[in-house]
Amino acid sequence: MWCSRLLSYPLSRGQCSSYRARAALAQLNHVLESELESIRGAGTWKSERIITSKQGPHIHVEGSRGEILNFCANNYLGLSSHPEVIRSGLEALEKFGAGLSSVRFICGTQNIHKNLEEKISRFHQREDAILYASCFDANAGIFEALLTPEDAVLSDELNHASIIDGIRLCKANKYRYKHMDMQDLEAKLQDAQKHRLRLVATDGAFSMDGDIAPLKEVCSLAQKYQALVFIDECHATGFLGPNGRGTDELLGVMDQVDIVNSTLGKALGGAAGGYTTGPKALIDLLRQRSRPYLFSNSLPPAVVGCASKALDLLMESNAIAQSMVAKTRRFRSKMAAAGFSISGNDHPICPVMLGEAQLASVMADDMLERGIYVIGFSYPVVPKGKARIRVQISAVHSEDDIDRCVEAFTEVGRKHGALP
Ligand code: PLP
Repeated sequence: MWCSRLLSYPLSRGQCSSYRARAALAQLNHVLESELESIRGAGTWKSERIITSKQGPHIHVEGSRGEILNFCANNYLGLSSHPEVIRSGLEALEKFGAGLSSVRFICGTQNIHKNLEEKISRFHQREDAILYASCFDANAGIFEALLTPEDAVLSDELNHASIIDGIRLCKANKYRYKHMDMQDLEAKLQDAQKHRLRLVATDGAFSMDGDIAPLKEVCSLAQKYQALVFIDECHATGFLGPNGRGTDELLGVMDQVDIVNSTLGKALGGAAGGYTTGPKALIDLLRQRSRPYLFSNSLPPAVVGCASKALDLLMESNAIAQSMVAKTRRFRSKMAAAGFSISGNDHPICPVMLGEAQLASVMADDMLERGIYVIGFSYPVVPKGKARIRVQISAVHSEDDIDRCVEAFTEVGRKHGALP
C-alpha cells in the first residue's frame, strides 16, 4: 500500500487514509508558511487594528488609551453612525427580519429592495438599478454578463482590483490604457473599432491618489469612437458634484456616462452593498445573467434600511456634502501652508506625499501616539519612492479636529525631517 512504501511498519486501511489526510495537511501548512513568510519578508503584511466603538471621527481602538481621532475611514459624510440612519436600519430589522435566507429570484425580494433600487436610480437620474451584496460583486458581475468575444473593454491601468477581476472573468478583447492618458485611450479605441461593442471602464475617483478621471475627455472620445462609458463611483457617490451625485455631476457629463457602479459601504451609510444603475435593458439582463446577483443572498433588511435613509438625507439637502467640501479645503490648504505636498484635486482623499516607505511608516506610528489614526501606504500598494500617508476627511470632522491633525502632522514632520 501507498503508506507502507513510506513507513517501515504496516498500517490498517483506516490508519492509512488518516495518515494520508495528515500528510496532505502538513504539506499544505508547509506551502502556506512559506507563502506567509514571503509576505512578511516583502514588508507587505497587513495587520488590523481593532476598533471597540462605532465608526466615526472619534473612535476607541484596542491597545490605545482614550479617544482616537480617525482620519482613515471612507465615512465621507459621517452617515455610518448618523442617528436617523441607525433608526431606519433598526426599523427595517424589526419589520422585515434579519435576512431573506434566499437569493433574489427565489424568494429574496422584498418591497424594500425594490424601493431602494428605485431610489438609487432616481438619485443618479438613470432608468433602473440592481442591488448586489457589495460593489466588488457588482464589478465582478457586469462585464461577463454584458460583453462577449465580439466586444472590447478598455480599462484604466489603475482601476480598482474588483474592476480588474470583473474584466478577467469576461471573454471580451481587453485593452489597458495608461492612467488617465487620453492619447493612449484614443489609440486603443482606434484599434478596438474592429469589435462590435466598446466599453471604456474607469474609476470616477482613484482611491490611492485622490485624483479624478477626466470624464469630459473620456466621454468625448467615447462619442467619437462610438463606445460606452462605465464608471466606478465608490469614492464619489454622495459627495462629489454640487448635489453629491458623483464625478459625472461634478464634470457635467451625467447624460453621457452610460453605466454607474457604486457602493452602499462608504458614504451612503457604510453598512455594505453595491449596485449598478443605468439603462433598463442592461439592468434586466443583469438580473438574468449576472452571477454574483443570481447566486448570492439578498441584502439584509437592516442594511437596506440604513442605505435608504442615507439617500433620503442626501436628496433632501446638499448641506452634508457641502460641509465635507469645506472641511477638505481647510485640511488641504493648511497642510500646503505648513509645507506638505498633498496629491489629488479637491478630493477628501488627501495623500500626504512623503517618498520613503520608512518615513511614512514611522510618521503614521507617531501620529497614532498623538491620538490621530492615519495609514501609511508604500510599495507595492503605490509605486516605489511614492510612499504616503493617506488622510480621509469626513463631513463630521470638526474644524478643531482638522486643525489638530494638521498640528500633529507639522510636529511629526519636523521631528522626522519631512519639513524644514
Ligand atoms: N470599487 C472601488 C473603487 C473601491 O474602492 C471599493 C472598495 O474598497 C470597491 C469597488 C468595492 O466596494 P465594496 O466594499 O462595496 O465591495
